Amino acid sequence: MTLLKSFEELDYSQALESSTEAQKWLEKHGRRFGQFINGKFEKRKNAELIASHNPSNGELLATIEVANASQLDAAVAAARKAQRKWQALGGHGRAKVLYALARLLQKHTRLTAVLETLDNGKPIRESRDIDIPLAIRHFYHHAGWAQLQEQEFSNYKPIGVAAQIVPWNFPLLMLAWKIAPAMAMGNTIVFKSAEQTPITAMFFAHLCEQAGVPSGVINIVNGDGNVGASLASHEGVDKVAFTGSTAVGRSIRQSTAGQGKKLTLELGGKSAFVVFEDADLDAAVEGLVDSIWFNQGEVCCAGSRLLVQAKVVDKLHAKIKKRIQKLRLGLPLDKSTDLGSLVSQTQYQRVDQMVQQGLQHGGELFQAYDGQSDGNYYPPSLITEIDASHPLAQEEIFGPVLVSMTFRTQTEAVALANNSRYGLAASVWSENINRAMDVAPKLKAGVIWINCHNQFDASCGFGGVRESGFGREGGKEGLFEYLKPKSLTSTKKLKPVTIKQQTSSDETIDRTLKFYIGGKQVRPDGGHSIATYKADGSLASLVGSGNRKDIRNAVSAATKANSWSTQNGHVRAQIIYFLAENLALRESEWINRLQDLCGITKKEAKTEFNASLSRLFSYAAWSDKYDGAVHNAPYRGVTMALPEAIGVLAQIAPEEKPLLSTISLIAPAIAMGNRVVLIPSQRYAGVALELVQTLETSDIPPGVINIVTGNKGELADQLAGHAEVDGIWCWSDDVTVAKVETTSAADLKRLWVHQEGDRDWLDPQQGEGLEFLRNATEVKNIWTPYGD
Ligand code: NAD
Repeated sequence: MTLLKSFEELDYSQALESSTEAQKWLEKHGRRFGQFINGKFEKRKNAELIASHNPSNGELLATIEVANASQLDAAVAAARKAQRKWQALGGHGRAKVLYALARLLQKHTRLTAVLETLDNGKPIRESRDIDIPLAIRHFYHHAGWAQLQEQEFSNYKPIGVAAQIVPWNFPLLMLAWKIAPAMAMGNTIVFKSAEQTPITAMFFAHLCEQAGVPSGVINIVNGDGNVGASLASHEGVDKVAFTGSTAVGRSIRQSTAGQGKKLTLELGGKSAFVVFEDADLDAAVEGLVDSIWFNQGEVCCAGSRLLVQAKVVDKLHAKIKKRIQKLRLGLPLDKSTDLGSLVSQTQYQRVDQMVQQGLQHGGELFQAYDGQSDGNYYPPSLITEIDASHPLAQEEIFGPVLVSMTFRTQTEAVALANNSRYGLAASVWSENINRAMDVAPKLKAGVIWINCHNQFDASCGFGGVRESGFGREGGKEGLFEYLKPKSLTSTKKLKPVTIKQQTSSDETIDRTLKFYIGGKQVRPDGGHSIATYKADGSLASLVGSGNRKDIRNAVSAATKANSWSTQNGHVRAQIIYFLAENLALRESEWINRLQDLCGITKKEAKTEFNASLSRLFSYAAWSDKYDGAVHNAPYRGVTMALPEAIGVLAQIAPEEKPLLSTISLIAPAIAMGNRVVLIPSQRYAGVALELVQTLETSDIPPGVINIVTGNKGELADQLAGHAEVDGIWCWSDDVTVAKVETTSAADLKRLWVHQEGDRDWLDPQQGEGLEFLRNATEVKNIWTPYGD
């Protein structure tokens, strides 16, 4: 027998990890867990119970009590009470607690890994070598951020009480992703585990006691989706961080609308795995093993859509089929198992049903094993002969099922990869780094891996675009999700104007200002106009009253102007400087206008004008300076964090300081490469339209800035419902903000919403700077390993 043959026929015997310690720990706690609230473990006699089973053999591991409403109230109240003291403890004090948690987890690595594998069904090799080490790394890394908080985030403060809800696929890792950054920045927490996998969260609660986490800083509740829903919409919560399905993410967006909560949603995906003909095909096959067959494919960013250049498709498919027959499907506690059990029978049935129903639309299925009825073991699967519109190519399966399609050219590859409502991650496989670096920025996803897949680290942000959600976890960008600016001072509401009766001599000032769409001044579609008034109640001007069609035209113009987003920062800076130069030429005209319109003194008008000019200069300056980072992740490679434009950004402007606030919105947006549809202040709508002549002479490409006036609430709602709008900034009243949050839930637009009068626009700390730039961009992390 040759060496190769004996290697191929090698028969592995079982190498089981011992579960003795884990079973002892479960026994010690009577195999029943309640809630961890205010530093105490609470159990209730008549609680509703959920059973937590080992999905690979059906063994009952423990029963879990479902938190009731008064326990949720108590957990939120405990977090609220603990928050001020936790914040006051300071960065160093918090760093010590996070460090203690990291050390304790490290001490209990083996026990934690076994508990995770028992509860979830994932191979021990993965929980031991990936889940738990990454969770530990998260606590270490964020202990560091806590230490540096006062230096690095001096203008920010914690948000308050964070509700955190996670799914079952990486129970402890998701806990670490959520809890570590929130704690580090001085927030307190009510965390809800997934009903299928609550055990390691309860283990972690015991470590909190040992690590000296002050009572109330971390509260852990258990239960199903109803508990999650009540927690997310609880009025005592300031921030919701959710990881889970897109459907539930959408419902949380809706149920929290109008509550003024900050939201991070890490949702589903259908990530592309793009293989070019010049890729190292063997490496790509191993990449697939780490991508779609890692964690049984129960991975939000699994490379579940294989896109392969047509010339090499047969060769690649043959290699994949050969390789998956070598994957070992079996006992999760066996150290040589590659794929363990799906998390539950329900999940097994869901995956199987999706595959069977999907195949009715065509496609060929290759499976390495026959499915086994017990143990929820789903075989590694490859589906070929389908096209991009096939349901299996569009929907997230969340199992070890790879679908494969071909492309001919690089352009087609990008189009195919982006043909998804999701945008979580993608990988690019090519030995030509020029090609890979050209493709990576064109992919609509939050994370791109070059010649690798499923790489994670606490120092690198993770999160999606489109219906994969918004916000980032990890990296410096992830910390801002748990912070808010320190310095906001609310301003007084504008006094209502008493409209004067017009006399016949006033008629000469009747002038209707047009919209600005696609670089042209255009009349409103409906032909209607509305009057705007000066502070003294006399008529200022008539402005168009926009409708759905005007919004459609403006969004379409902004969509077409997409080359602005790939324009370089230097060019954008020159154009913004030119805009400032042209505005400066009209100084006296603007000072008179602001005085007359807003009823302010000449000095006040001059101050607003000068601040507007200065703001343009600031963002011209930032255009080529807000430029990302290279992360120091522990691997041989570089991870580049690139801020990218959001795309088409709708901006609902505030009412006050009409010139300054308009410029404070559009300048950072276009500086970062967005195209804008602006709905100006309703009272001072004419101000934005009077800017048009300056915009027209400043080389701003058509469609980069579009202005439609009218009823702010109605237009905001139409923009929120428009599929080609990627993000919305909104300053308005409660009703409009709630409506924007509700309507935009359909496709999960990124929002930055505010109450009217939330800040002093004249103060550069509040009216300009990094907070605006961060909200005008989304960070894409591109992982590039090096070396042969
Ligand atoms: P799920 O959305 O059904 O449940 C996730 C969590 O939300 C659970 O704790 C559940 O109890 C809770 N929940 C359910 N209904 C709720 C409601 N109405 N309000 C509040 N909470 C509610 O998701 P799942 O099936 O458990 O997990 C799989 C999904 O999670 C997949 O779509 C996967 O892509 C996604 N996921 C995303 C990421 C990411 O980082 N983007 C990571 C892991 C998993």
